[in-house]
Amino acid sequence: MSNWIKRKKTKLIKVGNVPVGGDSPVSIQSMTNTNTCDVVSTINQINELENAGADIVRVSVPGFEEAKAFKEIKCAVSIPLVADIHFDYKIALEVADTADCLRINPGNIGKESKVKEVIDAAKHNNVPIRVGVNAGSLEKDLQKKYGEPNADALVESALRHVDILDKFNFDNYKMSLKASNIEMTVEAYRKISKIIDQPLHLGITEAGSYRAGTVKSSIGVGMLLSEGIGDTIRISLASDPVDEIKVGWDILKSLNIRSRGVKIVACPSCSRQNFNVIKVVNDLEQRLEDISDDIEVAIIGCYVNGPGESKAADIGLTGASPSNLLYIDGSPNIKIKNDNLVDELEKQVRQKVSDNKLLSEKIIARS
Ligand code: SF4
Repeated sequence: MSNWIKRKKTKLIKVGNVPVGGDSPVSIQSMTNTNTCDVVSTINQINELENAGADIVRVSVPGFEEAKAFKEIKCAVSIPLVADIHFDYKIALEVADTADCLRINPGNIGKESKVKEVIDAAKHNNVPIRVGVNAGSLEKDLQKKYGEPNADALVESALRHVDILDKFNFDNYKMSLKASNIEMTVEAYRKISKIIDQPLHLGITEAGSYRAGTVKSSIGVGMLLSEGIGDTIRISLASDPVDEIKVGWDILKSLNIRSRGVKIVACPSCSRQNFNVIKVVNDLEQRLEDISDDIEVAIIGCYVNGPGESKAADIGLTGASPSNLLYIDGSPNIKIKNDNLVDELEKQVRQKVSDNKLLSEKIIARS
């Protein structure tokens, strides 16, 4: 994948069977927003997230009822689950043998003996911890010291948790330092990345609605990833959690960090278009959502940019009159009329995916 980004090599940890850090791919996470005690709905949402391409899913475990439900949920899904716990260390102890990761801040647990119990349980079960510092819940003394949340305050808070973990010889953790402000978040991650080698979980917290949050996250998370910082991401959106996964994938695909599914290259369209580019792109994107194989499709409205983009893609369509020209593997192949454009494109893309699979099976069989 990308060779223009020099990624910082962090310590490798495992969240269930998903490696995070080291040379492993940048993973994508989201969080359920169902009531955790509603086991069926939560399992359904976890499965939807997995189908959309999530690597890891986080589930809130605010109390013991939820801890019981979490155990039932865990038995019914295969994707690694992070148990999200705040303050009550006993809940962390309760799910330490079930969760694939505990999201809990050691500095918020209280007495050292309680922290030790949680760390012992994590060690015993070989479960990592995610320490999550958030500008909205900074310690009071830090708020007083810095006047208002800023990158230095986030880093100082993070290092307090690091000191506690170091004291108990625990290095199986990842770290996040989130704020809803891009500048503060980016600066905090840049600073902490120079200080610790643990994997970093990136995100702009409370980024906002689907559109505003996507833009904000793409800029913030994109800046950090392009600098080689970040091992796992969560795009926080006030939207369906499945959208968080889709946007996460689009960010990774845009930076050429990871690929999954159909990548559509399309022109914005103008009066030169020979078919309705926007409608075709939207319809096709929806129809091909189930494809997880990596394939690039170019949809270009006319000959101005059509041939160049079509030749560079696996499947390319260049608008022309009276028929549009379809390219396969860079060569002109068939002419398609506007009437059945989306049907024909879908057919061709599915055929190409199936051909690619056969080809790679043959290569594997020969080797
Ligand atoms: S490729 Fe053609 S149709 Fe598309 S925006 Fe450019 S000039 Fe317009």
